[in-house]
Amino acid sequence: MVIRTTVWGENVHEHKNKTVAEVYPLTMHGTIAEALNRDPGIAATTVTLQDPDHGMTAEKLAETDVLIWWGHAAHVQVQDAVVERVCDAVWGGMGIIFLHSAHFSKPFKRLMGAPCNLTWREAGERERLWVTSRNHPIAAGIGDSFTLEHEEMYGEPFGVPEPLETVFVSWFQGGEVFRSGLTYKRGAGNVFYFRPGHETYPTYHDANVQRVIANAVKWAHNPAARLADPNAAPNVPVDKAPEKITERGPKLHSHGEEGLR
Ligand code: ZN
Repeated sequence: MVIRTTVWGENVHEHKNKTVAEVYPLTMHGTIAEALNRDPGIAATTVTLQDPDHGMTAEKLAETDVLIWWGHAAHVQVQDAVVERVCDAVWGGMGIIFLHSAHFSKPFKRLMGAPCNLTWREAGERERLWVTSRNHPIAAGIGDSFTLEHEEMYGEPFGVPEPLETVFVSWFQGGEVFRSGLTYKRGAGNVFYFRPGHETYPTYHDANVQRVIANAVKWAHNPAARLADPNAAPNVPVDKAPEKITERGPKLHSHGEEGLR
């Protein structure tokens, strides 16, 4: 089974900043997709903010097993209706991976229900990522740790809910630390946040980073059929209760009523 993976790119700094254009001549999303496509188990395509519906049509989401999201400068331009569509897909079982500055993207904040804030510094510091969950599939093929010579610092406290698992913790030259690989379950969907990826550094050309993202795609993939309506809240009639009951007491709702939202 080939995992259909869509890489969502904001596609702004690649065209506005000379350094970013030089580091990522294929764009960041293009670089990530190219690396993923070297894995025979993954078929990656790209969409961008500038596409109609930001590339996130119902059709595209229906044929996406795992979505990867990178954004930074234009989070606010993402339409709220598209954010809801993406979150519905996650709740229905689509896997999703948020990279680096996508910690402030609308879909991540919606799924986390938290500020998702952090401390940061752009000083080209060395980052060492330590594997904190031994034998975790997302860390497969990675040693005890690996380094990125130039990265932006992200520091704690990271304003996210406590994760299911912490797969990586980062140390930075300046002394800060950060929980840099976190797993969550939201509805039926698997969610992974992975920290590295500042656009002025060649992070997405790094073999370890590419490996972690490919591992994360396989981890996030849920082969079960997508839930048709993950927001359904059915009113179950008395005669459909698993155990026989007799209705009693006063009622607010009438029989068959959909209920309040
Ligand atoms: Zn950054």
